[in-house]
Amino acid sequence: MAAAAHAAGATRSQLSKGRTNRRPAVARVRVAVRLRPFVEEASSTNESSCVRGLDSCSLEIANGRNSQETLKYQFDAFYGETSTQQDIYVGFVHPILRHLMNGQNASVLAYGPTGAGKTYTMLGSPEQPGIIPRALKDLLQLTREEGAEGRPWAFAVSMSYLEIYQEKVLDLLAPASGDLVIREDRWGNILIPGLTQKPIASFTDFEQHFLPASRNRTVGATRLNQRSSRSHAVLLVKVEQRQRTAPFQQQEGKLYLIDLAGSEDNRRTGNQGLRLKESGAINASLFVLGKVVDALNQGLPRVPYRDSKLTRLLQDSLGGSAHSVLIANIAPERHFYLDTVTSLNFASRSKEVINRPFTHKSFQPPGKLAQKEFMDPPKAKRARSQEELEDRTDSPDPPPSCPKHSPLKQLSNLGPAVQERLLNLDRILESRGSQGTSILSTPRRERTALEKALKEKDSEIQRLKEKYKELEANRLSQRPKELEEENGSPALPCPFPSQRVPMTKPLNRVVPLQLIQEQTTSESKTHVPKKESQKRKLQQEEPAEGLRATLALLQVPPHLLAESRRRILDLLNTGSAKELRRLQRIGEKKAQLIVGWRELHGPFAEVEDLGQVEGISEKQVATFLKANILSFVAECFSALPRTDA
Ligand code: ADP
Ligand code: MG
Repeated sequence: MAAAAHAAGATRSQLSKGRTNRRPAVARVRVAVRLRPFVEEASSTNESSCVRGLDSCSLEIANGRNSQETLKYQFDAFYGETSTQQDIYVGFVHPILRHLMNGQNASVLAYGPTGAGKTYTMLGSPEQPGIIPRALKDLLQLTREEGAEGRPWAFAVSMSYLEIYQEKVLDLLAPASGDLVIREDRWGNILIPGLTQKPIASFTDFEQHFLPASRNRTVGATRLNQRSSRSHAVLLVKVEQRQRTAPFQQQEGKLYLIDLAGSEDNRRTGNQGLRLKESGAINASLFVLGKVVDALNQGLPRVPYRDSKLTRLLQDSLGGSAHSVLIANIAPERHFYLDTVTSLNFASRSKEVINRPFTHKSFQPPGKLAQKEFMDPPKAKRARSQEELEDRTDSPDPPPSCPKHSPLKQLSNLGPAVQERLLNLDRILESRGSQGTSILSTPRRERTALEKALKEKDSEIQRLKEKYKELEANRLSQRPKELEEENGSPALPCPFPSQRVPMTKPLNRVVPLQLIQEQTTSESKTHVPKKESQKRKLQQEEPAEGLRATLALLQVPPHLLAESRRRILDLLNTGSAKELRRLQRIGEKKAQLIVGWRELHGPFAEVEDLGQVEGISEKQVATFLKANILSFVAECFSALPRTDA
């Protein structure tokens, strides 16, 4: 670790504090790729690398589809096979540490498939220390210097160390404590109540806590079949500081050092049993990480941080308040090829994420710094997702210095009906993956236009509803007689009409029910069963028929059907496992299967493609489609204004 100490000395001057209270600057997530040398004996002798560095920022990789071509990637930095631990630390990680001294958050994430060098990069070995020991040495040294007697600020450094394993948050410093919850305080800071926090004044203190905790993880690894590569390890270092004189300002900066679980595609490795279950959880959280990155890239109004523990924890590290660097580790061996391409694609998406760092400040009289486990410094103004807002309704209002810019509050002077409709429309746009601004945060003029469109739609629906009532009244006055004549019994629920009522081909107008039935009874060759048991049998054999018939019976306008299908497809293609469970007939297992399939094959072209997912049968797809379309239609009808009062 002498090298680390040297690095600290050489660059310490750059870390000195600049205590300016400027507006938060916009910082991009910086992305580096590190290619490790050949380490697998069998392959190093007879294999050539499929990746090659071009310069200090770019690399190329063979194109699996066309051997004449290569795929080129550019990043903030590229570290080749000969790069050292010192190179990557000094060039890429050391520069972000100074932000901690200004009360800002920083994070370092190592991403990549198992065996590509994440742990080597983060932890290293006693001879070749990685980012964690080097960063800790520098930070501790810096706080000692800055916080020396007679200097204006006093410092306290503490550490927590946790692991996210199968969506459980486990405290590595107190392994018996079980799954912990992740919470967000009223200012948007992420906290884990109950997580052990150890004060550290020296590197020896750090090692005393960190080494046994790492062994906890390693013991688990042997027992549970390389558990360490299947969990996310998160080291959290907090730098708290307090002014020694009035106004006793306080600041807190958090540094996350994260060794992510292997990003390899576990279906290709043929994992089974526990391994497959684990990979489901890992893939789901890494998949959500990708989605979070995409949402941030595209400036979408909703960022799905809450869809996995990992992203929830990283909420203030990605796209939030942190200075983040991501190191994608890749390996040169050919059998890593597909995972390498996936990692490079992930990394090049992350490159465009914008973070907005700010200083975490508060004022408090002296004497509290040491005892306080989690401080709640006011947080700068930050756009919040609708989801977050819903979850925080129980929080008291923030102090006037950090107003909560709640769109809901701005809307509070609109009537509840208008609010509800705007929220509904917002949700619909969101579920369609709208790339525009959420209605609740759109400027007034756009909002007025949207409200107008909403009114027009409402009156159209109203017109259709009246027409329907009229037709229904007509039908009721005629139908009992007809049925009595046909069956010789009082009116029964109508039998399902046959396939003559088109579902995909739009109807230009709403066809009166009796007309459909007349057409179908006269033209259809399908036998319409009268008995309930026969009807059930037909429904089972031809669920699509049953659906068509039901929809025709409900007089569902074709645009609603098209909309419903589009909505289901959108959700199938963009929903997280958790969101997918909002669909009818999709439980946890099926949601995981869908997410997994999508990762491997890309988006579904149509809803029926769901049948291609292993574990979902054609019959289940038909039932799924029927249930979801009906639920959508029911939702639309129940959202209609009531006119029968
Ligand atoms: P991961 O954590 O991604 O699963 P590891 O860090 O355990 O991968 O690395 C796999 C193997 O490769 C280890 O034996 C490690 O020592 C070695 N290794 C990784 N990166 C390098 C590197 N840059 N130089 C030398 N050896 C490396
Ligand atoms: Mg590892």
